[in-house]
Amino acid sequence: MFTLPPLPYAKNALEPHITAHTLSFHYDKHHQTYVTNLNNLIANTDFAMLSLDDIIQKTAKLSEYTAIFNNAAQVWNHTFYWESMTPNGGGTPTNDLNDAITRDFGSFDAFRDTFKQAALTQFGSGWAWLVVAHDKTLKIVKTSNAECPITEGMTPLVTIDVWEHAYYLDFQNRRADYTETFLTSLINWHFAESNFEKAKAV
Ligand code: ZN
Repeated sequence: MFTLPPLPYAKNALEPHITAHTLSFHYDKHHQTYVTNLNNLIANTDFAMLSLDDIIQKTAKLSEYTAIFNNAAQVWNHTFYWESMTPNGGGTPTNDLNDAITRDFGSFDAFRDTFKQAALTQFGSGWAWLVVAHDKTLKIVKTSNAECPITEGMTPLVTIDVWEHAYYLDFQNRRADYTETFLTSLINWHFAESNFEKAKAV
């Protein structure tokens, strides 16, 4: 049985950027529903013995397991998304991650533009991610619906949820404003840095 992981901050902690109203729906309803659906789908199956990561890896791209994959990956993606934001976030990363961003994107501003472009051009529901790719360089990727870069062997550092349920109550259809706010005021560079250090150690 999986349980909904605790939100790493109070529901009003991201205000005025993301309201408690949005987080109540997004965390209590959407994220909880993915957990509940996953538990129902894997009850009395071999999947019930596996970790969330293993379920995602074993069900990815297999049409008979689409429902399990979608719910498991959405549990994983949302837990990762909550950590990708922090009250008083934004700014720039430090030290090694800052150097790697400059190395692989040319500049921090170029990284920002590429990330925004990925978030904006993800057609329909999905996610934009900063990842460490196979060749150990940083890349920005976008994924549809529940798709998650870990199934491609990439290591996510930070993500933005661009499903409408993530921003519609606060930004309506203005995904560009939501993405800009995410980068300016919410992104958790400490979380990204710690993921980057772990990726380098592998
Ligand atoms: Zn979401």
